Amino acid sequence: MTLDRQAQCPSCGAPITFKLGAARAQVCGFCRFVVVRTDRGLMTQGRMADLLELPSPFAVGGGGFWGPKRFEVEGRAQYDRVGAASAPWQEFLLGFPEDGSTWWIASAQGRWYATREVAPPPLPPSDSLRPGALIDLGPHGHFVVQEVGQRRLLSAQGNLTGIPKPEVVTRYADLSGPRGAFGTIDYGDGREPPVLFVGEQFDPAGIRLDSGVPLEAPAASVRTVECPTCGGNLPLLSERSERMVCQYCGTPSDIRQGHLQALGRSPQFRFPPRIAIGAEGQLRGVNLVCCGSMVRSCFVDGERYHWTEYLLWGGATVGYWWLMEENGAWTLVTPLEVGDVSDSGTHLAYRGETYTLSQSVHARVEQVIGEFYWKVANGETVDAAEFAGSMGKVSREHGEGELTYSFCGPLNPGELEPFGITVGGGASGTSGPGGGPMQTVMTVLIVIALVVFVVMVDECDDGGSGGGFYGGGYYSK
Ligand SMILES: [Zn+2]
Ligand SMILES: [Zn+2]
Repeated sequence: MTLDRQAQCPSCGAPITFKLGAARAQVCGFCRFVVVRTDRGLMTQGRMADLLELPSPFAVGGGGFWGPKRFEVEGRAQYDRVGAASAPWQEFLLGFPEDGSTWWIASAQGRWYATREVAPPPLPPSDSLRPGALIDLGPHGHFVVQEVGQRRLLSAQGNLTGIPKPEVVTRYADLSGPRGAFGTIDYGDGREPPVLFVGEQFDPAGIRLDSGVPLEAPAASVRTVECPTCGGNLPLLSERSERMVCQYCGTPSDIRQGHLQALGRSPQFRFPPRIAIGAEGQLRGVNLVCCGSMVRSCFVDGERYHWTEYLLWGGATVGYWWLMEENGAWTLVTPLEVGDVSDSGTHLAYRGETYTLSQSVHARVEQVIGEFYWKVANGETVDAAEFAGSMGKVSREHGEGELTYSFCGPLNPGELEPFGITVGGGASGTSGPGGGPMQTVMTVLIVIALVVFVVMVDECDDGGSGGGFYGGGYYSK
């Protein structure tokens, strides 16, 4: 159903059309006042700040096809988190004229999410929610609370399904359900009932924009940015990355709208990485580019242990994978959906396998090189737990209002040859989200080796509605 309601902006008199039935408000394109639809006609409610220049292939007023279905980009909202490092993100409102439905889409850490407003079952109060808690969403199934946080609306454009309250701090919870299902509860400022959005991750390859702009440039088309300190050309793989540490001089920079802003002095690189920034290779059928490396350490029984983690970018559909290395032992780490893991505290169930708590450690970042999707810095610490099972290991991180899981599995001999790395012949079997043959070497290693597990915190500043993802792995003494 399409509603064409032509009226005038109460503030400036410009024509205003509410063609979306679901739109409760609109930002006037001329005076930027918020125009709200009420029983008594249109009313204004304050002026919206100017839009931030956040890059996106979507543009309000544009359109495209999602599979066979036509959509128009009706609006966008720009947010920032409260109580965490500033990292604004934006969401776009798509309207489908065929059935009158509307969907909000957002991307975070290489994943795309679509959600739509649904009638909520009774929802728990926001201050009772903790990451890891289970919520029954009635017909939508059981979801796990992935993240609880606060945000504020910075700016908006076009049609909006809610009535925007710029700069007002609002509470929200991100939820993860089975098989890629995703949800957000918008608690607003607590004066109105919560609003529930439910949807799922989607493959950006299914969307074709009229403009012809791809949803994300493929990993192959790397552009470069200039290091503000040494002028070195640095590859920039993802527009959504937030931190770059120059591989030549070590200067850490924030990435702001495609430019680097240097932060402080350059650290020395004490640990030369074994996979270079920009190295490309295929692993398990996926083309990956190494965009960053990080050395971490932990202190166990009076000794400090170091290991290296490599961040691999697989493009918009795959997102990020990690490789971990300590003393020549390599592990592949891939993110899990929180909703796919059932967690009793000491045991996890994932895809029919049970994983038992084996270790928890406190890990510290010692060295960073390259491009990262969060504002990583030397000295950053995180507490993590590792669960061992016959297929590999699952790591859990609980902190900063966020819960994340990753799968850590060994690599087959030769698998890292595309990256110039020879994996020792001792590690056999396979792992990863797809599962594989039973792996027994790991069990022996657990007995004879000190097993340490590490993750890294996402500092809650990754932007968007997606949950965090962290690396993890095992290390033998
Ligand atoms: Zn106006
Ligand atoms: Zn530099």
